[in-house]
Amino acid sequence: MNRYYDVIVVGGGPAGIMSAMASGKSGASTLLVEKNGFLGGAATAAVLGPISPFHYKDEQVITGLPQDFMDRMVQAKGSTGHMKTLDPYGSGDSLGFYDREKYKFVAAEMLLEFGVDILYHSTLCSVEMQDNRITGITTAAKDGSRLHFKAHVVVDATGDGDVAVMAGENYVLGDAVQHKMSPSSSMFEMANVDTDRVFQYIFEHPDDFEFKSDIVPMREFDDRLKQKYFVGQGFKQLVSQAVEAGDLTFGRDSVIVLNGIHPNTMHFNATRICGKNPTDVTDRTASEIDGRRQIDSVSEFMIKYVPGFEHAFVSVTGSEVGVRETRHIEGLYTLTGTDAYEGRKFEDAVSRGYFPIDLHNPDGATGYGNGGVWMELKDTFDIPYRSLVPKHIDGLILSGRCISGTSEAHGSYRTQGGIMGIGQAAGAAAAVCARNQIQPRQADARDIQKVLDQLGGSYRRDEARTALEKARAREIAKAYIKSQNGRLITDPKILATYED
Ligand SMILES: Cc1cc2nc3c(=O)[nH]c(=O)nc-3n(C[C@H](O)[C@H](O)[C@H](O)COP(=O)(O)OP(=O)(O)OC[C@H]3O[C@@H](n4cnc5c(N)ncnc54)[C@H](O)[C@@H]3O)c2cc1C
Repeated sequence: MNRYYDVIVVGGGPAGIMSAMASGKSGASTLLVEKNGFLGGAATAAVLGPISPFHYKDEQVITGLPQDFMDRMVQAKGSTGHMKTLDPYGSGDSLGFYDREKYKFVAAEMLLEFGVDILYHSTLCSVEMQDNRITGITTAAKDGSRLHFKAHVVVDATGDGDVAVMAGENYVLGDAVQHKMSPSSSMFEMANVDTDRVFQYIFEHPDDFEFKSDIVPMREFDDRLKQKYFVGQGFKQLVSQAVEAGDLTFGRDSVIVLNGIHPNTMHFNATRICGKNPTDVTDRTASEIDGRRQIDSVSEFMIKYVPGFEHAFVSVTGSEVGVRETRHIEGLYTLTGTDAYEGRKFEDAVSRGYFPIDLHNPDGATGYGNGGVWMELKDTFDIPYRSLVPKHIDGLILSGRCISGTSEAHGSYRTQGGIMGIGQAAGAAAAVCARNQIQPRQADARDIQKVLDQLGGSYRRDEARTALEKARAREIAKAYIKSQNGRLITDPKILATYED
């Protein structure tokens, strides 16, 4: 391993993977440092369900390396590719189911193909500074031994902005006023589920669900992953019965279920850990304990109360609690909720946002209707390069969920597609800085856009392609609806919009 790299990416989640791929593929010598012994960050370690859309109303907004990665996962029999949700409320316009073990494998293989060095089991423990510029990092292994590396640019893809904070950059924890954060969740899956009976229950109790949608395959994928895909949040009557009987204690009043990628499994985004600061290790420990209590309570509830779960068991839990939100690092430009909602465009666009502003209630029990926010955007918005550049620190580029944005803007760009697009842009920018031997604040966004063009990354709408994508999605959805002979859980009013 070299001790000097053009680019060091700290953190191997969806953002860090894309940053290191973009940097490596663009010719920069690149090291990726990760504290775990595998890649994927929350996507694998926290047992996430499907990748939320790369799409805005059927227009594919995230392209380039993130899509190459999805294609490789489909080839490896580890993904369905993007599927279309007939009703996007609550889930977004599409969902890409994936096998987390394939995710870890494919990501590492692609990085190695692009010449990236990977260093696992290494936690960032300090940064080397010359005045306000980061010139290197030191990592710690579990026995306390240290490795030191120098770099032209460091990319902070730690999610929490650990590199930037160690370098002394300003940040906001959670929202700017009360510093509350979207709750964390301990995710899990159950196996040996009769998913047809779960579907039937939702079908027969439509009013008991806040949202529900059938999910339509949009491309060929491996036979072993084929099943009826659907999503629903509710079981409210059963939840309230169980709470009354003392059989269920957890932080919300409904349960979201959707398929796991393997038949007869179901994925749960059902727990909610509120009022804890995930950057504080004692709070985080308490979150892990609380999360496991909630998993036990919810899974036992499912087995006792919900048809189809009688013989099910918890088959997977995360190796760590899933953390949605922590620090937002201060950059040259702070992206706001209004920028996202209004669909603002910027000259220095390096990626695009598209997901509704989805803020889970930081205080607890209720879903979207009361305390949480689900706000559709007027249009896609641009991610400006300036939001990836720290305000005061040189030698550093921000990637993933710690970029400069308010809590509300983060509520939109935080899902995997948005984060992967940002990750790709951060890696492209780092490669430009290394090639031209300049600081991130000196880089011209047009040079970064040229690199994104080479990688296939989108930062502007392509009207012709969008029209084709929309027409294709509608035709496939119409054919799917017809093929199901009325066995659909999507709201009939939404189904009617697919009629000619
Ligand atoms: C509960 C939950 C549910 C979600 N549901 C969905 C969903 O359904 N669909 C969807 O698309 N998205 C979902 N997301 C969002 C998705 O997880 C994030 O978009 C994504 O994981 C953020 O990527 P990231 O790379 O910025 O950060 P992370 O995924 O947090 O990755 C950070 C990486 O950095 C490493 N790291 C951190 N600190 C250090 C350090 N000091 N030294 C070395 N390594 C370090 C970590 O181990 C990790 O690998 C969900 C998130 C959560 C928490």
